[in-house]
Amino acid sequence: MDAREVFIPSRLFGIIGHPLGHSLSPLVHNDAFRRAGLPYVYMAFPVEPSGLDGLMAGVRTLPVSGLSVTIPHKTAVMAHVDELTDLAGRVGAVNTLFWENGRLVGDNTDVEGFLSPLRERGLVPERAVVLGAGGAAKACLAGLAQLGTRELYVAARDKGKARALAEEQGARAWGLAEAPELGADLVVNATPLGMKGEREGLSPYPAAAWRPGQVAYDLVYNPLTTRFLADAGAAGATAVDGLSMFVGQAVLQFRRFTGGDMDQARARELVRSALGLG
Ligand code: NAP
Repeated sequence: MDAREVFIPSRLFGIIGHPLGHSLSPLVHNDAFRRAGLPYVYMAFPVEPSGLDGLMAGVRTLPVSGLSVTIPHKTAVMAHVDELTDLAGRVGAVNTLFWENGRLVGDNTDVEGFLSPLRERGLVPERAVVLGAGGAAKACLAGLAQLGTRELYVAARDKGKARALAEEQGARAWGLAEAPELGADLVVNATPLGMKGEREGLSPYPAAAWRPGQVAYDLVYNPLTTRFLADAGAAGATAVDGLSMFVGQAVLQFRRFTGGDMDQARARELVRSALGLG
């Protein structure tokens, strides 16, 4: 027996959220640690809202080097940090915690993760509409404002929620059913419509409304080709799938955690394989 063969992690990372059964973050982060030769470990820490205070006390006493944060803690965790990055403060949501000079910093990599496929394609839409007014829509609106999109709309079935989010993020509120009237260059699906399960096969945007030249960006990534993207593609619009955002935010988190690079193409393939997407 050779003691040198025993894996002894020197740093602990993880993800907090609830429920976490579906999280793909441990997969991509542990793989990237291994490939970078880093003896670190990344675990899932499922915690309900009532357990957040206790968990965050643990983060300050145990050697936790960094965390990903997901639903439902992205806003509540802000009260537990020593510092927020400008972006996290502006968006009003944190999805990444890391230590800097002994201070716990809250950052948001969802915004740049969302923008990464648009930046890769050199797309700066003039007019964009985000469908849905939840947490993900918030990151999309903040990202599009940062990108320089001049006409920003948020369309949701609950007009009160659309108005509140529009006001917060400097966008205009719109009705979900009326979204096609905008003829936006970019249409983002930030609702769960189209997700595997009961809502699979549904789309928040009518098939007949798509035009060539538009860009359809679906945040849903399981299935990879949703009804929303299939309809858009059939009409000659460009389709951007939600895996790009997931991988984009993970790559940026990995950089915050380690200073190194996660192989984006490999992470994408790993997630595809884990989801049985070939
Ligand atoms: P959320 O906070 O629950 O918000 C969902 C939004 O969709 C709300 O505005 C909700 O309206 C609306 N909605 C729900 N069911 C609807 C329906 N049947 N018809 C019309 N609108 C409906 O969720 P979220 O965190 O923003 O996530 C939204 C989607 O993005 C999810 O599918 C999530 O998996 C995906 N996502 C992907 C990534 C990625 O990395 N690719 C990251 C984050 C999120 P009400 O408020 O009226 O219910």
